[in-house]
Amino acid sequence: DLYSVSSPLPSITPSPSEHRWSDTTSYTAKKKLQSWFQLSNGNWELGTVESTSGTESVISLPDGKVLKLKAESLVSANPGILDGVDDLMQLSYLNEPSVLYNLQYRYNRDMIYTKAGPVLVAINPFKKVPLYENDYIEAYKCKAMESPHVYAITDTAIREMIRDEVNQSIIISGESGAGKTETAKIAMQYLAALGGGSGIEYEILKTNPILEAFGNAKTLRNDNSSRFGKLIEIHFSETGKISGANIQTFLLEKSRVVQCNEGERSYHIFYQLCAGAPTPLREKLNLKSADQYKYLRQSTCYSITGLNDAEQFGIVLEALDVVHISKEDQESVFAMLAAVLWLGNISFTVIDNENHVEAVEDEGLLNVAKLIGCVVGDLNRALSTRKMKVGNDNIIQKLTLSQAIDTRDALAKSIYACLFDWLVEQINKSLAVGKRRTGRSISILDIYGFESFDRNSFEQFCINYANERLQQHFNRHLFKLEQEEYIQDGIDWAKVEFDDNQDCLSLFEKKPLGLLSLLDEESTFPNGTDLTFANKLKQHLNLNSCFRGEREKAFSVSHYAGEVTYDTTGFLEKNRDLLHLDSIQLLSSCSCHLPQIFASHMLIQSEKPVVGPLHKSGGADSQKLSVATKFKGQLFQLMQRLESTTPHFIRCIKPNNLQSPGLYEQGLVLQQLRCCGVLEVVRISRSGFPTRMSHQKFARRYGFLLLENVASQDPLSVSVAILHQFNILPEMYQVGYTKLFFRTGQIGVLEDTRNHT
Ligand code: ATP
Ligand code: MG
Repeated sequence: DLYSVSSPLPSITPSPSEHRWSDTTSYTAKKKLQSWFQLSNGNWELGTVESTSGTESVISLPDGKVLKLKAESLVSANPGILDGVDDLMQLSYLNEPSVLYNLQYRYNRDMIYTKAGPVLVAINPFKKVPLYENDYIEAYKCKAMESPHVYAITDTAIREMIRDEVNQSIIISGESGAGKTETAKIAMQYLAALGGGSGIEYEILKTNPILEAFGNAKTLRNDNSSRFGKLIEIHFSETGKISGANIQTFLLEKSRVVQCNEGERSYHIFYQLCAGAPTPLREKLNLKSADQYKYLRQSTCYSITGLNDAEQFGIVLEALDVVHISKEDQESVFAMLAAVLWLGNISFTVIDNENHVEAVEDEGLLNVAKLIGCVVGDLNRALSTRKMKVGNDNIIQKLTLSQAIDTRDALAKSIYACLFDWLVEQINKSLAVGKRRTGRSISILDIYGFESFDRNSFEQFCINYANERLQQHFNRHLFKLEQEEYIQDGIDWAKVEFDDNQDCLSLFEKKPLGLLSLLDEESTFPNGTDLTFANKLKQHLNLNSCFRGEREKAFSVSHYAGEVTYDTTGFLEKNRDLLHLDSIQLLSSCSCHLPQIFASHMLIQSEKPVVGPLHKSGGADSQKLSVATKFKGQLFQLMQRLESTTPHFIRCIKPNNLQSPGLYEQGLVLQQLRCCGVLEVVRISRSGFPTRMSHQKFARRYGFLLLENVASQDPLSVSVAILHQFNILPEMYQVGYTKLFFRTGQIGVLEDTRNHT
C-alpha cells in the first residue's frame, strides 16, 4: 500500500520552519489548506489537512481516503492560483514537491520551459513540440512573447552583448539524453535567424551534422549521445551580424572506437560510411557492411530505429562540402575510417614458445597497410614488436598477444582521435572567415553533466571534476546576482553566508596531495598500478572531508550533487594513454594523409616541453601530457573564457529513462534538479534574505495589526513599527532603500496573525 509509510526521502527538503513564509503547518491546518505528503515510493501527493492534534494531522485525499500522518512530515502546498507559474521563484512555498508539481503541471501542457530565477529549466519532451516555428522566432525577436524559452534566453544574450559590450555565454548542462545538444542547436538556430545574412551562419549550422556523425553514438541512454564536450564561440560584427565561429571540443571518448557495450553502437560515421558510400568509394576502400567489422560486431546493434544511416551519410557529405573540406580530404578521412575498421580485423598468431605473436597476413593487415600507405612488414613489426633502449643498446622486444592487441587498439583509437581533432581544426579554419574580430561573441557550452552510475571509472572522474568547476562558476554567479540586489538596496552584504564547493575542488586540484597530482605521480611510475594508486589516495587523503577510502581499489568523493564511488580499475592506463613510439614512427612515415593529420596533433605534442609527467616506462614511449592534466588545462582555459562573459544557464532535465513522451517520473526529475543546481538556486536564495517586500507593500499588508498609532504614516516608519511590535530580531531582517529583506521563516508570524485577525 503506497499510503502505508510516509518516510521522507533523504533530501534537502527544507524543514517546515524554512519555508518561505515560515512554519505554516499549524496555520494550514486551521485554514484547511492543502499539503504535500510523501508516499512510500517517494512520490508526493496532495491532500487537505482536516485537523491537527499534537504531532498528528488528519489528511483527506481527493478520492475520499483519510490518513493520519505526522504533522511535521507535511510540506505546504501553494494555492491553486499559482499552478504552473512560469518562474519557480513566484511560488510562495518553494519546497521540493511544489517545484516538482509546478514543472509537471507545465510539462503536461507542453510548456517544457520554466525559469528558476535566472536559470532556464528545459524538460525533454521526447516528441515534436510546436515551439520552434518561424513565428516563434519572430515573436521573441520583437518581444511579443515573454514565456520562458531557449529563444528568450538567447535573445537576452544578444541584447546584453550589444548593450553592455560584454561577451556572453550560454551554459547548457544536464545528464545524458536530457536534451543539451538539441537545446544548443535551438539556440544556434535563433542566433542564425537574428544575426544571419553573410551566409556564414549556414556553415555554422552545418557543423552540427558533421560533429554528431563523428562524435555521437547510440548508447543505452540516448540514441544520439554526444561522446565529447563542446564549446562553440560565435563571433559578431559591430552591426550584430554573425562573422565567424570557433569550436573547441573536450575529452572525446575514444575507447568506444575499439569496444562498446551490447545495445550500443560505435560512432555514427562508421555505420553511415558502410551503408552510404557510393560504389567507387566502396571499392577503393574495400568496404564491407558494418557486421563484417569486429570493432562494430561487439554489439549486435547496427541500426537505430527511425534513422537511415545511408541517408545520413549524404547529409554529412553535403555538410563537409559546406565547410570547405575538399573532396580529396574527404576521401582521406574515409580512408582513415576504413583503416580503423580494418585494424580491428587484424588477428595475431603465436610464433614461439614464449607466446610472442605476429599479425596474420590476411585481408585485415593488407587493407590497413594499403589504406594508410605503408609496407605490410612495417605495419606488422609496429604491431608485434617494440623498440627499447636498455643502457646504450637498442633492443627489439617481441610482444605477447595481449600486448599486441593493446598496441593495435591504441593505434585505432589514436587515428580516430586525431582524425576528429583534425576535422574540428579544418572546420575552424573555414569558420574563421570573419578575420577582423570585434571581440564580441556568444559562446554555447554543451557539456556532459554530472554522472553517477553503479560503476564509475576514469571518465566519470573527469566529467564530475569538470562539473564541480562549472558548479562553482554557477554558484558564484548566482551569488553575485544576489549580492548586486542587496548592494543596490544598501543592505549589509556581510551578513549573508555562502558555502560553495571549494573543498571538493581542492581535493581534486591541490598540489602535491590532490587526486589529480597523485594520479599523475602514480602514472609516471613504471610499477604503478591501479591498486597502488588507490592505496596512495587512502594514505594521503583520508583526512579530507570530501574523500573516503573504500574497499580494495575504490574510493568515494562527496560531490555537490551527491557521493560517487569510483573504481580505479583502468585509471592509470587511461590517464597515460600511451601510443608507443613504434606506432608514432609508423604513422609519421606512411604515405597517406595521416602524417599531415598527426603533425598537428601527436607529433607536435610530443616535441613540446612536457609540463606534466614524463612517460618513461620502457624508455622509448612518447612524452606527452597525461589525459587528466591535459583535461585540467582545457578546463582552466574554459573557465577563464567563461569568466569574462555574462553567463546564461540552461538546465536540461530528462523526465524518464525510456526516451518516451508524456512520462514524468518525480524521483528522477528531483534527483536531476539537485544535480544540476536548480535546487541550489533555491538554497542560495534562502541563505541570504530571500523574502523581500517593498516598504509600501509591507505597510499596507500588516499596518492594520499595529496596536499603537505611529507618529509618521510613511511606509518606512510604519514598517519599522511593525517589526518592533512583533519583536522580529535585528539579525533576521534588513531595511533596504526600497525594500525590506527577511531571512526565511520570519514573515510567518505576521502572516499568521494577519490571517486570524
Ligand atoms: P548526451 O549527453 O547523451 O549527448 P543530450 O543531453 O545532448 O545527451 P540530446 O541528444 O540533445 O541529449 O537529446 C536526446 C533526444 O531527446 C533527442 O535526440 C531528441 O529525440 C529528444 N529531444 C531533446 N530535446 C528536444 C526538444 N526540444 N524537442 C523534441 N525532442 C527533443
Ligand atoms: Mg548531446
